[in-house]
Amino acid sequence: MKLFNTKSKSIEEFKPINPDEVKIYTCGPTVYDYPHIGNYASYIYWDLLIRTLIKNGYTPKRILNLTDVGHLTSDADEGDDKLEKGAKREHKTVWEIAEFYSNIFLDGFHKLNLLEPAKICRATDYIKQDIAIIDELTKKGYTYETADGIYFDTSKFKNYADFARLNLDQLKAGARVEFSDEKRNVADFAVWKFIKPGEDHAMRWDYLGRPGYPGWHIECSTIIHEELGETIDIHTGGIDHIPVHHTNEIAQSEAAFEKTLSNIWMHCDFITIDNQKISKSLGNTYTIYQLIEKDFSPLDYKMWVYQGHYQGDRNFSFDDLKAAKTRRLKWINRAAEAFQLGKIDPESDVQKLVLDAVSNNLNSAEAFSIIDNNNLSFKDWQFIDELFGLKITDDIKELSEETKKLINDRTAARAEKNYELADQIRDELAKQNISVKDTENGPIWEYLK
Ligand code: AMP
Ligand code: ZN
Repeated sequence: MKLFNTKSKSIEEFKPINPDEVKIYTCGPTVYDYPHIGNYASYIYWDLLIRTLIKNGYTPKRILNLTDVGHLTSDADEGDDKLEKGAKREHKTVWEIAEFYSNIFLDGFHKLNLLEPAKICRATDYIKQDIAIIDELTKKGYTYETADGIYFDTSKFKNYADFARLNLDQLKAGARVEFSDEKRNVADFAVWKFIKPGEDHAMRWDYLGRPGYPGWHIECSTIIHEELGETIDIHTGGIDHIPVHHTNEIAQSEAAFEKTLSNIWMHCDFITIDNQKISKSLGNTYTIYQLIEKDFSPLDYKMWVYQGHYQGDRNFSFDDLKAAKTRRLKWINRAAEAFQLGKIDPESDVQKLVLDAVSNNLNSAEAFSIIDNNNLSFKDWQFIDELFGLKITDDIKELSEETKKLINDRTAARAEKNYELADQIRDELAKQNISVKDTENGPIWEYLK
């Protein structure tokens, strides 16, 4: 299996530390609002990563976090906590906001038929362990205190700029507005924030004799260490995480534990909609629920996502989603035909070709064209489902005796040229979402939608 590694900036052969427990960590969402379809694209790509690992004989152990504290509206440790903002907006407590939007996120996750992670971890369940890491960093001389928190001194971490190829001088020049006087270096970041007297921040824990809360990045270092250990096999996230969040995770973890945090880093590109970025102000933050309202299955969206590559500009439009929906229905009906014709066992090496394609840095688009251009047995389609989780075969089964009788009656009516009766039966079948086509192998039923 070959994967692109952001760290080495090249495609490499995947070599797990232990094939029986491939350790994977995915940075999860901040649970303060409805996730949009762009947010879900990344989890859809990582679902294919997990399924591809399984098909290659590995046993993945994947941890996903939910950020329910400490993610500020600005990456430079300024602005409001996103959870506090959500609470004000909806006149709820931050805890209610976290609970509600965690459930919303997971509902979408299930609707997209994404494999369940080994564990889903909430940042607020790991505060004690955050503090232990911050203490360790302080003991080793990596932190300093300012009026508003404990900061990581990036100048003390030798390779800080390497991962993202950061140009720190350029960063400094561009950051004058957000560069607080007390920060020693422009890239320094908060591992802990103090709550000032009178400051409205409901989530608070006592540390160093005053109330505060963790910085955004520390939760991932902590959860990885607690749940997976010092070095993991693969760390995934969106491309936006490279210069700040993941760079800071590496600095914290590798400074504290003196071990490589992750051997492979994978990042997915961003999706635009009608060639514009996804943003509230443009009114295009479509949710999974809005797709359903527009008569799409979340799996049509998953199909659309896999039509392209995780590393590459992706532009979404409803016309393209419609095309993906049509393609998925075509696959379902091809699988239904294979089922009816008793084409059970594979006749070709199509499964191997498809797996080879996705094992090459998740090239799902190539896998899809192999599927389009080959004759598949029902077993092949079941394999496709295990690999992509698109539920192609889930509803395909023997029709009821009544429906079978209707199909036979229709065939008989047509043979007798009784087209009126044949049309009546066609309408009856349509109510069951079924149509019949006459082929050289006899009548074959299909789903209408
Ligand atoms: P957030 O909940 O804001 O932390 O977002 C979760 C993750 O979704 C982000 O870190 C990105 O990696 C990912 N994401 C956000 N917008 C997009 C987009 N337009 N396309 C793909 N991924 C996105
Ligand atoms: Zn993270």
